Amino acid sequence: MKCPRCSHTGIITDAESFDGNELVWSILRCDMCCFSWRSSEESIPQIFALRPNAFKIAPEQIGSLPIVLPCPHYHKRS
Ligand SMILES: [Zn+2]
Repeated sequence: MKCPRCSHTGIITDAESFDGNELVWSILRCDMCCFSWRSSEESIPQIFALRPNAFKIAPEQIGSLPIVLPCPHYHKRS
């Protein structure tokens, strides 16, 4: 199995859902680019295959990507 976004093969299973003893779905995550998806989303690899190459990430690019600004703090109304 490989990551649909960066093609890295280091995939981690973060969570699994069972119906009795039967595995129904897993949450999978790429240990290179952190993209995650549910195993039952079978169309995810096909969707990424149809996207232009500009939307894919090469693992060697990850260190030079711009930093995503953090979400601002919000205050709960009391
Ligand atoms: Zn990835």
